Amino acid sequence: MSVERVDTLVIGAGQAGVAMSEHLGKAGVPHLVLERHRIAERWRSERWDSLVANGPAWHDRFPNLEFAGDPDAFPGKESVADYFVAYAEKIGAPIRCGVEVTSVEAQSGRRGFRVETSRGPIEAARVVVATGPFQRPIIPAIVPETAGLLQIHSNAYRNPTQLPEGAVLVVGAGSSGTQIADELLRAGRRVFLSVGPHGRPPRRYRGRDFVWWLGVLGKWDLETPPAGAEHVTIAVSGAYGGNTVDFRRLAARGMQLVGRAESFKNGVMRFAPDLARNVAQGDADYLALLDEADAYIARNGLDLPEEPEARKIGPDPACMAKPILELDLKQAGVTSIVWATGFAVDYGWLKLPVLDAKGKPRQRRGVSAVPGLYFLGLPWLSRRGSSFIWGVWHDAKFIADQIVIQRSYESYRAAG
Ligand SMILES: Cc1cc2nc3c(=O)[nH]c(=O)nc-3n(C[C@H](O)[C@H](O)[C@H](O)COP(=O)(O)OP(=O)(O)OC[C@H]3O[C@@H](n4cnc5c(N)ncnc54)[C@H](O)[C@@H]3O)c2cc1C
Repeated sequence: MSVERVDTLVIGAGQAGVAMSEHLGKAGVPHLVLERHRIAERWRSERWDSLVANGPAWHDRFPNLEFAGDPDAFPGKESVADYFVAYAEKIGAPIRCGVEVTSVEAQSGRRGFRVETSRGPIEAARVVVATGPFQRPIIPAIVPETAGLLQIHSNAYRNPTQLPEGAVLVVGAGSSGTQIADELLRAGRRVFLSVGPHGRPPRRYRGRDFVWWLGVLGKWDLETPPAGAEHVTIAVSGAYGGNTVDFRRLAARGMQLVGRAESFKNGVMRFAPDLARNVAQGDADYLALLDEADAYIARNGLDLPEEPEARKIGPDPACMAKPILELDLKQAGVTSIVWATGFAVDYGWLKLPVLDAKGKPRQRRGVSAVPGLYFLGLPWLSRRGSSFIWGVWHDAKFIADQIVIQRSYESYRAAG
């Protein structure tokens, strides 16, 4: 059987694969992108119906194409997927959809990789893994499947009608958990939201969206997470036109806040006594950003409207003052749990000595420990923005540069 040969094989055609293709194409590197489903599939089928981008259209995009419509609006998830399809068309990206990569191994005795796919083998001199920052949903082993409740991960949540009648416990108060809990509350559900440590930047302050503030304050460019904040999730939302996530306000609208979900026994869920602390730390994070924004405005003599009311933190709701530490789910009418508890990577198909003890790739700025193997799109790959739409484009540019450099060494007197 003849084997197809490519110079550089990119696995995955989400935003990372599309960005990679653009830079490889510009650099004249022959390449092929394989996608097991459709371009930007996760935006279409692994996210809830009402999801909109967390950043406004002017920001959450690649430099060479704007979204149609209002640049300050938050595009819906289908528009985001359509955007990447249009982008791929615009750059003529060589993307082959419906092809799954099932294994990648090193060639023996020569450079390059042998790649098995659902449509036959491919030999590639280089491989860029762009299979996503959020591949495998994580549900902590707290509530057994036999507990008699519907349990789903946020990536399987679509809309309120999908859940059985009754109250819902949403675990995790990052952007996903908070948005889903809010949607369920608006749909008339009784909602318990388990709130762990989080940051909650202001949606807008003094006339600028938080994505702008993070940009001018250099925070998207941070190379490593601030000490102690490695796992702290960010609660931000573009839903309903974009509003600051405010847990006190959610509680005032009837949401029951609880601390971190810890354990479950005999139908009773136990929560850590950390709700007030988590909310207070979120407030401190919020106020710190306002301080930095004010200082930036003063330092640069900008004429942006003052907004003293943004500093008003509402009173502690009853659920914070007297937190629920134990909840009999049945008695409380809880019939479903949505776990908005994050994702892991899954490289079971990568037969190369490149993963650390936690299953994460050993790499620096996407250049892995295995020559010729690159990773793109991972959180903090080079900076805070790496797993986001605009950030991945810049990381892809860097990786394309590294590939060009290696190809030039390889072509020196064609050593073979
Ligand atoms: C709920 C949610 C909301 C988000 N909102 C925003 C936002 O508003 N703005 C923003 O900037 N970022 C956002 N992100 C973060 C990030 O932009 C997305 O996670 C984005 O999907 C990552 O793109 P990617 O190309 O790196 O990975 P993915 O979108 O995961 O794409 C990887 C692709 O690889 C394919 N693939 C995987 N394995 C194989 C294989 N073995 N063979 C062939 N193909 C394979 C998959 O089918 C997939 O299409 C959000 C993330 C989540 C979870």
